Amino acid sequence: MNQPNIHQPNIQLIRGFKDILPGETELWQHIERMAVSLFEDFGYREIRIPIMEKTELFSRSIGEDTDIVEKEMYTFPDRKGNLLTLRPEATASICRSYIQHKMYAQDPVRKFYTIGPMFRRERPQKGRYRQFYQIDAEIFGVEAPYADVELIFLLRTLFDRLNVTDTTAHVNSLGCPVCRPRFKEALSKLLADAAPSLCSDCMRRKDRNPFRVLDCKVPGCREAISGAPSIIDYLCDDCRVHFSTVTDTLAHLGVPFKVDKQLVRGLDYYTRTAFEIQTGALGAQSAIAGGGRYDELIESLGGPQIPAIGFAIGLDRLAEIVSLNTPAAVRTPDLFIAALGERAKKLAFEWSTALGLKGIGATMEYGDKSLKAQMKQANRLGAGGVLIVGETELESGAVVLRNMATKTQSEVPIAGIINKLMETISKPST
Ligand code: AMP
Repeated sequence: MNQPNIHQPNIQLIRGFKDILPGETELWQHIERMAVSLFEDFGYREIRIPIMEKTELFSRSIGEDTDIVEKEMYTFPDRKGNLLTLRPEATASICRSYIQHKMYAQDPVRKFYTIGPMFRRERPQKGRYRQFYQIDAEIFGVEAPYADVELIFLLRTLFDRLNVTDTTAHVNSLGCPVCRPRFKEALSKLLADAAPSLCSDCMRRKDRNPFRVLDCKVPGCREAISGAPSIIDYLCDDCRVHFSTVTDTLAHLGVPFKVDKQLVRGLDYYTRTAFEIQTGALGAQSAIAGGGRYDELIESLGGPQIPAIGFAIGLDRLAEIVSLNTPAAVRTPDLFIAALGERAKKLAFEWSTALGLKGIGATMEYGDKSLKAQMKQANRLGAGGVLIVGETELESGAVVLRNMATKTQSEVPIAGIINKLMETISKPST
């Protein structure tokens, strides 16, 4: 005989992962709906990309020397030994898809958005998770600085519509392959002098990819590079004109921003405009969105030379801020049917499904409970009305409808009850 298993498994979430529960999901849906409707008004189309890609896609695009690729990717061999990675961000996959499906062939200009989970093995803390969600938007095929402004404007508009007001757009230019060599020379000189204070990662980075040292979070490194030159002071003429058009147009549109010479992004592929939306509402994790241009990326992944720009919003962080000013709109039942006895339950079940199909949220108790218990339950659920159906009501051919707000009761004939209820109970406006 099998022994009962006395060691019940106690399986918990993976560290850095989390459940998003009812009560929170309503708020997430609200944010997602606002984002989607804004994007669609501006001509963006949804793209859905896989959760997993070949590791090489990310290491080549994000950059071998970045924290993400060096330390944070969930990478594992599949059964054939091919290296796969859970996506740490969406841009690389969207580029891969754009190239693979030759979306540029007809018209290189495309605007995409996507929403979904990303995975980075960072040190978990408030606002920083190992599975987190991003709302992503990208514009492909536009070199003009207006694309940069459009994205920053969309971010601002979305945050305004969500009543997230404590935000600042930080913008910088990271130059292009024309202006970078001169900057690199100046930076390398500083890093050679600062070498004794750099962490071991930065010691390696300073020769392989000195830009990455600017993004290091280790306090010793931050101190060592505090006097580092800013690339914005080394821009070539084209990059300078591009950047000034971005800032002038933002000002013209009334989008508040701050030129932040220290802003570098944690990914290698950025060129020219880089931006981050920061907020004071979240403590240490102040960035709620970030993005920039990546004019060289599509070509470096084997596609044609097509400029592009995009952003990612941290949905977990945004939801946290929005929850401070917007109560989640949880939908409560329009009607609770308190049915007593089998005959009544059978009818109640029929009615609740018929009402559900018409957009009226009706719920009922399937088990045997007293009327008093069912009334309590209806109250707890916040039902708008309660329909009382017992043997007496069935005999008389009419049931009792109680309006829970006004506490008034009326009789509803069973014949034609669905239409009658539809007239009495108004559909929720959402
Ligand atoms: P990035 O792709 O690194 O530019 O990040 C874009 C946005 O995603 C950031 O501004 C954050 O709001 C959010 N984000 C990035 N990493 C995490 C994480 N580990 N946990 C939660 N949100 C994150």
